[in-house]
Amino acid sequence: MSDETVAKVRRWYRQRIWFARRDACLKTALYRCATAGCVNRATDCDHIRPHRGDWSLFIESSNHQALCHSCHSRKTAREDGGFGNRRREAGQGVGGGNPSARPPGQDRVPNRVFLHAGFS
Ligand SMILES: [Zn+2]
Repeated sequence: MSDETVAKVRRWYRQRIWFARRDACLKTALYRCATAGCVNRATDCDHIRPHRGDWSLFIESSNHQALCHSCHSRKTAREDGGFGNRRREAGQGVGGGNPSARPPGQDRVPNRVFLHAGFS
């Protein structure tokens, strides 16, 4: 999503109609997480199809499902790098980078020099 879309969607999440839809979604689901096998209490209303700034997908109840916070975070992180975050570039983080590499200067403790030793 563009920065503009992110700003627009942030406003949507503050609208009363969204809170009403979210509450309805959670109540209809009896606060049960929609993930199979998950027994956590649902606290989040998830968009089954990511709305990506599309108002009708955003607000349409048929596109809503109740999820617990951890399932919801996992799902959104998979879809778009988390709400408001940029999607990861393809290939980034796969095989790239050397985990044993350290920033320069941190592989060695500098020798201390006691200039005033013996003069106390
Ligand atoms: Zn869950």
